[in-house]
Amino acid sequence: MERYPGRPEGTVALAGGGSVSRNMTVPEKLLDSIRDAVGPKGWTTDDSDLEPHLTERRGLWRGKCAMAVRPATTAEVGEVVALCHRAGVAVQPQGGNTGLVGGGVPDGGIVLSLARLNTIREVDAANFTLTAEAGCILADIQASALGVDRLFPLSLGAEGSCQIGGNLSTNAGGVQVLRYGTARDLVLGLEVVLPDGQVLDGLRALRKDNTGYDLKHLFIGAEGTLGVITAAVLKLFPRPNHTETALAAAASAGAALALFQRAAELAADALTAFEFLDRQSLELAVAHVEGVRDPFAEAHGCYALIELSGFGDGNGGLKQTMEEILSGAMEQGMIADAVIAASSAQAAELWRLRDAVPEAQPAAGASIKHDVSVPVSRVPEFLTKARALVEADMPGVRPVAFGHLGDGNIHFNLSQPEDMDAEAFLAEWRRVNRMVHDLVAELGGSFSAEHGIGTLKREDLKRYKTGPELELMKALKAALDPKGIMNPGKVL
Ligand code: FAD
Ligand code: ZN
Repeated sequence: MERYPGRPEGTVALAGGGSVSRNMTVPEKLLDSIRDAVGPKGWTTDDSDLEPHLTERRGLWRGKCAMAVRPATTAEVGEVVALCHRAGVAVQPQGGNTGLVGGGVPDGGIVLSLARLNTIREVDAANFTLTAEAGCILADIQASALGVDRLFPLSLGAEGSCQIGGNLSTNAGGVQVLRYGTARDLVLGLEVVLPDGQVLDGLRALRKDNTGYDLKHLFIGAEGTLGVITAAVLKLFPRPNHTETALAAAASAGAALALFQRAAELAADALTAFEFLDRQSLELAVAHVEGVRDPFAEAHGCYALIELSGFGDGNGGLKQTMEEILSGAMEQGMIADAVIAASSAQAAELWRLRDAVPEAQPAAGASIKHDVSVPVSRVPEFLTKARALVEADMPGVRPVAFGHLGDGNIHFNLSQPEDMDAEAFLAEWRRVNRMVHDLVAELGGSFSAEHGIGTLKREDLKRYKTGPELELMKALKAALDPKGIMNPGKVL
């Protein structure tokens, strides 16, 4: 494997259209046994079929594998993993392959795709639960919940292609964490195939279950290094029937934070999203994504997208609450301007502006990314200090800061200076990350708020996990997967 000069450590060069690299060390006898276990529809070794399993969307890594296996049942997953365990061959679990840290790119062995394990096994509206297999697409689960007048609140940009197994394995966040928590908070029970092929059946649909260690949490956020999630019992919620959406313009992140506190106090549980965009984010989205426009006549320092969701006839409470939040904020000088969506189409337009930012970023050239969190109260301090650091370090660099202010989670991305060579800029990735992540650590934050560790952030894990935490993680890995076959080389 070749490292791409200048890219983050562990990054592998794209071969650039050459033939697919196969790991020939996987014994043919094992591949035959896998073929027998999953039947003709359950495997492929065809170069063009393997291709999408070997790369990821940013093109930062290219892996290799001997076979992509697509079991259709939990029993088949168990059989395949048991076979690999006996042979000591690596298993790379793969969901929708929308992860952003190289966690799903195989480095030899087989790819275990969960795509065919995609049945919604049960929807129990009265128990407010839905039991889904790992390969179900997130958007399909949301739709299935809506079908029985319930809400499954996990929501993120990749929801049309990411799978619930991947969401749980990465403990995905998204735009409703403020009200409903991360993926971890939305699980009652889990079915997992352990690294030796045994099935751990924990598909309990219980809100109370204090029977020893809560093992499901080991596998949530483990990025496929401790086992394969095959199904989950998910929590459903009453479906709000009324939403108010607004975009407010503030002079500074400090003012946006004050607005967040005001919104949280006045709306309490009805506050379902509070997203942040700096001026550069908005400009990028408006300049490069069709149909996106700036709703304000003047430029402002930053913006907050506020969403309230609730119940009832929709005419009273929520609308009034939103108006109260904004008018008071205006009087107190927290915000300079605001627009409230008058229709669902206008609300969608405001969300489009927010969602367009990461989409627009490539148009501004190469970018160095940070997915960090700090205590919500320290977001403004983080932004001021981080900007000062990178601008002093690299004149002309263009910080693009946006994300989930209500969760303390900012995507602090840096677009290259306009006159700089993209590769030369990317060569600074590690060094710039170090500077920003050191600051985050100083502020009591996390260097990976949403996207996990994968391949990209293993060095950071070693640096920032202090005390016995890292040792305990290694001990757990060794206890559950002594042969080290589950997604080797990732996380630890
Ligand atoms: P994959 O990418 O296939 O896999 C991710 C990791 O999980 C890998 O390590 C893989 O080995 C492991 N894995 C997958 N399935 C299983 C399984 N069944 N059992 C065990 N291990 C498994 N993430 C957020 O948190 N919040 C966001 O707002 C967000 N927005 C995004 C927007 C866009 C446009 C894109 C492209 C990505 C975004 N992401 C976001 C990142 C990504 O979508 C999430 O990490 C998602 O949860 C990954 O799901 P997946 O099915 O694609 O998993
Ligand atoms: Zn995010």
